[in-house]
Amino acid sequence: MNLSAYEKIHFGVDYYPEHWPKERWKKDATLMKELGIDVIRIAEFSWSKYEPEEGKYDFSLIDEVIELMSEYEFKIILGTPSAAPPAWLIKKYPDVQPIDYEGKRRHFGGRHHACQSNKHLRDYIDKYVNRFADHFSDNENVFGWQIDNELGNSHGDLCYCDSCQEEFRKWLKNKYGTINELNEKWGTVFWSQGYRDFDEIIAPKITVTGRNPSQILDWKLFCSDLIVDFHKHQSSIIRRYSDKPITHNFMGFANKVNYFDLAEDLEFVSHDQYPGLFHTDFLHVRNSDLAAALDLMRGTKKQPYWIMEQQSGITGWEIMGRSPKPGQLSLWAGQSIAHGADCVVFFRWRNCIYGTEQYWHGILPHSGIPGRNYNELKEFINKFKPLMEKIKGAMPQNKVGIVFSYNQEYALEIQPHHPDFSYTEQVKNYYNAFHSLNIPVDFLSEDSDFENYNLIVAPSQYLMSDKLEDKYCEYVNQGGQLILTMRSGVKDENNICRTSGSLPCGRLTELLGIEILEYDCLRDVLGTVVFENKNYDVDIWADILSLRTAKELATYGFEYYQGEPSITVNEFGRGKAYYIGTNPSKELLIKFIKLIGEDIDLNLNSKLLIDGVEFVSRQDENTEYIFALNHNEKTVSFERLEGWVDYFEEQSSKIKPYQINVYKKSL
Ligand SMILES: [Zn+2]
Repeated sequence: MNLSAYEKIHFGVDYYPEHWPKERWKKDATLMKELGIDVIRIAEFSWSKYEPEEGKYDFSLIDEVIELMSEYEFKIILGTPSAAPPAWLIKKYPDVQPIDYEGKRRHFGGRHHACQSNKHLRDYIDKYVNRFADHFSDNENVFGWQIDNELGNSHGDLCYCDSCQEEFRKWLKNKYGTINELNEKWGTVFWSQGYRDFDEIIAPKITVTGRNPSQILDWKLFCSDLIVDFHKHQSSIIRRYSDKPITHNFMGFANKVNYFDLAEDLEFVSHDQYPGLFHTDFLHVRNSDLAAALDLMRGTKKQPYWIMEQQSGITGWEIMGRSPKPGQLSLWAGQSIAHGADCVVFFRWRNCIYGTEQYWHGILPHSGIPGRNYNELKEFINKFKPLMEKIKGAMPQNKVGIVFSYNQEYALEIQPHHPDFSYTEQVKNYYNAFHSLNIPVDFLSEDSDFENYNLIVAPSQYLMSDKLEDKYCEYVNQGGQLILTMRSGVKDENNICRTSGSLPCGRLTELLGIEILEYDCLRDVLGTVVFENKNYDVDIWADILSLRTAKELATYGFEYYQGEPSITVNEFGRGKAYYIGTNPSKELLIKFIKLIGEDIDLNLNSKLLIDGVEFVSRQDENTEYIFALNHNEKTVSFERLEGWVDYFEEQSSKIKPYQINVYKKSL
């Protein structure tokens, strides 16, 4: 669909009118109008309110809210309420409640207390969504739909019930065809795990000892597919009534569902951005981690996204996060926009006085009296709204792509090798190095087109198919520059070790020009690598590389393999393939990127290297918009680049603490 039809929608709030007396709504609407709001999301958790008894639907409260809000020219996003099935449904069909990994039932009282394959649940969702979509599809004030909420996130590692088990068997049958094929692909000859029939296969609940990695990989892939199917069940109903956009609120690097797959079922992707979190110390969340999540969201559909929940106060359930400092709420919202948000919806309008999220703070405090958050965001929204209109649809033009793969994430989550190793953290560490150098990055799936990128970084391509191997070879052969890292090419796509030669096996050996005859899991040591005559720290892992056609760029500086190559480069066709056989420190990575950056057009600009300051750009046909975001508590100054013109009045080449300057450049 053509999203440009909605050019006037830039900022919004998440609102729960059913939590507040009707007499208050008008006051809320007036305050929202003054804040500069265009769109409101409602209804995504309110099943028991709108179907209080089985089959008795009453959407009059939503009708009333929409009518009132339309007087203020607000558009509405309507959420389907499947994240919170009502008590009457659970009482009638207790089997809707999910079964956990240990085989215990999880009960009503929180949210997402439902099995996503359960037939009774699906039937009730079917009836509700049909009524809901039919009732609101012609309402001109409804802008679009959101299905459920943060699918896969709070649902956690559920469900292992009989229904899910049956669905898993069907999924496996569809994938493998015969039980013999499954036995072979899962390597069930080990520990006597052979099956005679699909009906002997269980949902992989807790076992006495470790589990079969091939089986668990399929289980994770199945669970992701089930979530996508759960979403499609509702989206297909809505599309029968309405051609308005459908979205879903993602959660950055949360890994329960493959967001590239889920994005295919959406007109646009939404994301929930909470820089403060509540379980993490503020100081330990890197700015680059916040930026990476936003870039991943843009990458899932290769188009601008919405923020459906942008932090607007202290976060917290039982435990709370820090209070955002003056300027930080705006800075974070500005960061979302700089990385590709076309609309920012703030969560939530007002602190709720009930339930689990009493301390997940909103724009207004419990009292409902506007304070610091409201005033700060009002100033921000009014300042940025005209710019939002201009940049709608604008994308960055990046030359570096980082591959993010859910399959690699799943396989390495099953067997992380080293207790401190995480695939996603490694991806974020590579991103962090590029981010520190202000080199903008796109996230790509393994299926994405690589050809527009000068450099592809693909950390730990642990599971390797012939197709993926060919893709990497072809990319480099045609002149691309590729970085592969430790534990690449180790297994096939079924999570079984490859044996067609020494690692990295198959065509990767030729592409990288190396063989890995030995490796070392660095359990109790911090290692060192010598690069350009200087020592750098490495940890987690050491691939000991033997050169075939590659040249060494760095060697190990410790252990019995001291002096052996650790980082290499190989010319292959018209391009180059780099291999990093260890987990490098940030310092080493930055040095390495600077070295290869001389070879590739990465727009490295030393003038813009200021600690804690991000420079991000979006561009349309004629103009590049450059956002300079100061995450520091102090004012910083810098030398602006040629052609940069102030976008806002009263700007300079100084940026105040937690402020955003915007520049434009004609193209
Ligand atoms: Zn289930």
